[in-house]
Amino acid sequence: MKPARTHQQIRSRGLNMKRRQLLQLGAGLLLGGMNGVRALARSADHVIVVGGGIVGASICYQLARRGARVTLLEKSHPAAGATGKSFAWINANVSKQPRHYHALNRLGVHAFHDLQQEIGAELPVRWGGTLEWYANEERAAELRRLARQQQAWGYPIRFVDQAEFARHEPRATPGTTLVATYSEHEGSVDSAAATRVLLRRAQVAGATVLYPCEVQGIALKGARGITLQTTQGELHAERVVLACGVDTPRLAALAQVRAPLKPSPGIVVRSTPQPPWVQGVLVAEDSHFHQQADGRVLMGDDYGPPATEPHQQLASQPADFPGPDFSELHGQRIRRQAARYLPALADVPLESVSLCWRPVPRDDFPIIGYAPQSPQLYVAVMHSGVTLGPLVGELAAMELLEGVEIDLLAPYRPARFAG
Ligand SMILES: Cc1cc2nc3c(=O)[nH]c(=O)nc-3n(C[C@H](O)[C@H](O)[C@H](O)COP(=O)(O)OP(=O)(O)OC[C@H]3O[C@@H](n4cnc5c(N)ncnc54)[C@H](O)[C@@H]3O)c2cc1C
Repeated sequence: MKPARTHQQIRSRGLNMKRRQLLQLGAGLLLGGMNGVRALARSADHVIVVGGGIVGASICYQLARRGARVTLLEKSHPAAGATGKSFAWINANVSKQPRHYHALNRLGVHAFHDLQQEIGAELPVRWGGTLEWYANEERAAELRRLARQQQAWGYPIRFVDQAEFARHEPRATPGTTLVATYSEHEGSVDSAAATRVLLRRAQVAGATVLYPCEVQGIALKGARGITLQTTQGELHAERVVLACGVDTPRLAALAQVRAPLKPSPGIVVRSTPQPPWVQGVLVAEDSHFHQQADGRVLMGDDYGPPATEPHQQLASQPADFPGPDFSELHGQRIRRQAARYLPALADVPLESVSLCWRPVPRDDFPIIGYAPQSPQLYVAVMHSGVTLGPLVGELAAMELLEGVEIDLLAPYRPARFAG
C-alpha cells in the first residue's frame, strides 16, 4: 500500500519540470494574442465561487493562496454533488481525445502530483498507475491503436505481459487478456476528502466558506460587478465563478448565459474499509475498481445504462434509485463483475451504492472561462473534474487575477455555445 516515496518524489520533480515547460509554452503562445484580455482584478476585489465540489474548492484554494478576497458558497455541504459520488480516477486515459484534451488531462494528472508535493500526506491520493486490459477482440484492437497513439504523443503508457501485470497487482485475476497496458503516472483520490482539505487550506489562507448557502438569483451590475441573491441574504462581488456541476446551466441561465450539459448517469459502489488489496486503478471491459487510502474499494461498471425499459425512468434525471431494492441489485451486480478480477471482493460488505449525474458538457469538453456577454461571470463545469480540478483551479485563478487568457483553455470557452 505504501507508495515508493523516493521514486515518487523523483518522478514528481520530473513532472513539475515538464508541466512548467508546458505551461510556459501555453503562456508564450497566448502573449501573441492578448487583445481583448479582461482587466486585471484589483487586489481588493471580491470573488465569489459558487459550488463546493472539487472544481470550486480548487479555484477557491488557488485564489486564496494568491491573496485574493474570496468567498465560496455551497448550497448543501462540501462534495455534496458529483465529487462525493465520483469514481475519482486521476487519468489521461486513451478515451481522452483528441490530442488537446489528452494534453489538458495529462497536465491535470501532473497538477495532482504537484498538489500532493505541496500538501503532503493530508491529501488522500494513491499513485499506483492504471492497468487496462481486454479479452474482447474489438476493444483490444482499439486499446492497441490508442495506446500506440498515446506513445507517439509521449505519454508514458506501455504494453505489459502477464508477469508484469502480476508484479503490479499480485492479487488480481485478469483472466483471458488479449492486450494489457500500464499508465504509470495515473492514480486515484478520495475526492470528497480532498475537497475538504482544499477548503480547509483555503480558509487558513483567508477564504470564507459558507454552507448551506444556495444562490437563487444573479443580478449583473455591469462594471460594478454582480449581486447574488442567496439563502443567506444578498452578496456582492466583482467576479463570480459558477462551479455548480450539473446545476451550472440553471444558474448560468439566470444571467442569460448558456452552459449546456447532456445527461450522463453513473453508478459507483463503495465497500467498507478493507486491508490493502490493490495499489492502482484496474480497468477491464465490464468493471473498473481501485482502493482508496482509507481501504474502501470503489467499483464502477461500463459507461452508460442499457436501453431497457426500466432505465427509461432515467429520462427524468432522478437524484437516486427508485428504492433500496434497485440500489442493492446494482451493488451486487457491480461487485460480482469486479470480483471476477479480484476474488477478495466477492463477499465484501457494501457501504454505499450511489447513482449520480456526471456534469458532461454537450460536446463532452469542459466549459471554462468568462461568459461572453458577462465579463464578471466565470464558468467552470466539466466531466473528469476530479482529474482536472487542481489544474483548473490554478488556471482559473490566473485568469481571474492576472488578466490573462490562457491559450491552453482556448478550445473550452463558454462563447462556443453563445447564440
Ligand atoms: C459516477 C461518476 C464517476 C466519475 N468518475 C470520474 C473519474 O473517474 N475521474 C474524473 O476525473 N471524474 C470523474 N467523474 C466526474 C467528476 O466527478 C466531476 O467532473 C467532478 O466531481 C465535478 O466537480 P464540480 O466541483 O464541478 O461539481 P460538483 O462536485 O457537482 O459540485 C458542484 C456543487 O455545487 C453546489 N451547488 C449547486 N447549485 C448551487 C447553488 N445554487 N448554490 C450553491 N451551491 C450550489 C452543489 O451542491 C455541489 O456541491 C465522475 C462522475 C460521476 C458521477
